[in-house]
Amino acid sequence: MKYEDSIEQSAELLRKALPLMSRQTAGLHPVSYAIWYDYVSNRNPDLRQAIDEVMARSGTLDETTTRHLFDRHVADIDADTAARVTEGFQRVLGHMATSAAQAGTDTARFGETLGRLSTALDQGDGHADAVAEALAETRAMQGNMKALQDRFDDSQKQIMALREEVRKAREESLLDALTGLANRRAFDQRLAACLASTVAGGESAPCLLVGDIDHFKKINDTWGHPFGDQVIKAVAAVLKALAPQGALPARVGGEEFAVLLPESALPDAQSLAEMVRQRISAARIRRHGAEETLARVTLSLGVTRHKLGESPTEFFQRADQALYASKTGGRDRVTVLAA
Ligand code: GH3
Ligand code: MG
Ligand code: MG
Repeated sequence: MKYEDSIEQSAELLRKALPLMSRQTAGLHPVSYAIWYDYVSNRNPDLRQAIDEVMARSGTLDETTTRHLFDRHVADIDADTAARVTEGFQRVLGHMATSAAQAGTDTARFGETLGRLSTALDQGDGHADAVAEALAETRAMQGNMKALQDRFDDSQKQIMALREEVRKAREESLLDALTGLANRRAFDQRLAACLASTVAGGESAPCLLVGDIDHFKKINDTWGHPFGDQVIKAVAAVLKALAPQGALPARVGGEEFAVLLPESALPDAQSLAEMVRQRISAARIRRHGAEETLARVTLSLGVTRHKLGESPTEFFQRADQALYASKTGGRDRVTVLAA
């Protein structure tokens, strides 16, 4: 359980969160409350910083931003923990089921022994009643054991189902719903893991491509948001198609994309970026249900190579700088910034 504050502590946080939350344009729903609760509790520095940035920029949290902050910083189901817990449960139940089964077998054997004894006594003299009674009790016990074992089996099945749910939820929490590409969270996780496992030496190093659709606001304004979404999907499809095996193409922002190439030479990363650029600028995206074709959509890209020891943020920032150079240089181009 993520929240372990006492009633007094949580009441204090509620008192602090309410005024902040009610000042926003977003609704007063649990998603809003969750982010403001975390904000005032001071335990989620990334979230706090993100909120401060948005507030400094636009003065208020709207519905979309609230949901976004929640997804990015709060809703993390901490799937690793969830999986660990369910696995632990399963192991314990497994042990218990085995013990119950063993106890059942032992009781059965005991029952058989008593049965044989009873027959023997029947043929002899009169302690048979007491033995028969013990036998009946043993059988009842056997029945109980069986019921217990069945219950354990059921619980195990339920936990298996639960685990599957956690697995699915985890998978979904890493995918961007619109494009099916990895989302920002998945990208950040993979980038961190990739850099953590990077070692010195060799020709290849992690390379990073970032891309941003040119004049996308105009596309939205001219053709409408749903068509904007269609364009985003089309760009994602190109990235998916051209990304080599082992690469991670991701949607890292509204109309911003990234491709992580865990082991690559910079010229290869550059030619991939160039290929992506050309494929997109050559494409013509038709609006659903409309005859006319759209003037071309273009993508600006930045490419860089990881410098050993550099943090994910520094690495990404350099790729962003390269992208920015492509924007200021006229868009629809690739800029490479070597480490
Ligand atoms: P530039 O060439 O400098 O990148 O210009 P731009 O218009 O693409 O840049 P800007 O960042 O000003 O605009 C991005 C727009 O993308 C603003 C936002 O409304 C839109 N947007 C962000 N996410 C989505 C989305 O999921 N769907 C749609 N249709 N639009 C989105
Ligand atoms: Mg942008
Ligand atoms: Mg743009």
